[in-house]
Amino acid sequence: MSKVKNWHLGREIEYPYDDHRPKRQWAIVFDLNKCIACQTCTLACKTTWTSGKGQEYMFWNNVETKPWGGYPLAWDLRILEKLGRQDWGAKGEYLGKTLIEAAPPNERVLHFFPTDEDWMYPNVGEDDCAGGTVDGGMHLDALPHDRWFFYLPRTCAHCTYPACLAACPRKAIYKREEDGIVLIDQARCKGYGECVRACPYKKSMYNPYTRISEKCIGCYPAVEQGIQPQCVVNCIGKIRVMGFISPPGQSRRDNPVDYLVHEKGLALPYYPQLGLEPNIYYIPPIHADRDYLKQMFGPRVEDAIKAYRELPDDPRAQGLLCLIGSTDRIIHKFDVKQGTAFGYDEQGAELVRVPVTETVIERAAFDSKLGAARHNTP
Ligand code: SF4
Ligand code: SF4
Ligand code: SF4
Repeated sequence: MSKVKNWHLGREIEYPYDDHRPKRQWAIVFDLNKCIACQTCTLACKTTWTSGKGQEYMFWNNVETKPWGGYPLAWDLRILEKLGRQDWGAKGEYLGKTLIEAAPPNERVLHFFPTDEDWMYPNVGEDDCAGGTVDGGMHLDALPHDRWFFYLPRTCAHCTYPACLAACPRKAIYKREEDGIVLIDQARCKGYGECVRACPYKKSMYNPYTRISEKCIGCYPAVEQGIQPQCVVNCIGKIRVMGFISPPGQSRRDNPVDYLVHEKGLALPYYPQLGLEPNIYYIPPIHADRDYLKQMFGPRVEDAIKAYRELPDDPRAQGLLCLIGSTDRIIHKFDVKQGTAFGYDEQGAELVRVPVTETVIERAAFDSKLGAARHNTP
């Protein structure tokens, strides 16, 4: 075992391979306050990559309702239960064990293997509410709400320290130097399923038809062309932005992902305590139960929610959120000037510009020039 630096946990962790960060790291930020569970992302991925035989229950992107939903069934509850209670220190450092540190003797990772039935209900628990039922006419005002749920879209997190890679006895899984995307070499894989067992997020999946494992490929053919992944560019709610995240200390204020994660602290990794440094980041839902959110996103949840609620006073962050979903290209740099947000490519060429505040035009009910009355239609 080597000691590697995990900045999500504020300490070194044990990992079977030496510390090595790729030249740059693929990452997606999701604003969970805006997801409407339309599943367009799920279908965009499915129709692009997993419409073949043996992939019927394979959703590289899925959207589940928290707290009751989970695909495969209860994936997060089961691994958290196995890990047992762990604690964070007062300064946000993790005091507990990661999955690799808690591995049983002669195993690389603490794990569980979902059954076939666990994979059969991709949308179980949809819209099920925590805290009781919501009756007609009920009004929820104070935050956080006592009745709540939220939608959690998920892809492979292309972890910095992937459990799937650590567990593969064939060394068939590798992390690309150019973008940090984690791939399974389909020629080397023999379908032992160790990656399926080891990935706590259950984002490595076994294909019973081809008898090898498959997973989200980060849409690398698009990323290589400077285009964001299918599940990102097709997002109806415009809640997602893909880019490259820098380690802390190398963060750039004009990099959208760095700005949301490092500069503003708005977006957090999920289940960081598992120890893999996952590279999908979430802006937490401000209405949901705080203890639940702390378990899922770690101790910086309150700060992230505070920063989110202060956005109306922050034109730069507001402008960046307006850029999300405005282009299919990867925005490497952004700026906000005089009420307009600009996105630029790697060479600094302008990709897109959007107004931070849309102009509101009020029209008269009667247009005397056209002699036409305008009214709302039912
Ligand atoms: S989320 Fe799972 S499958 Fe994806 S890189 Fe991490 S451990 Fe591997
Ligand atoms: S990044 Fe690409 S392969 Fe991965 S879940 Fe999204 S659409 Fe699917
Ligand atoms: S397309 Fe966007 S809004 Fe719709 S479910 Fe997916 S992440 Fe949520």
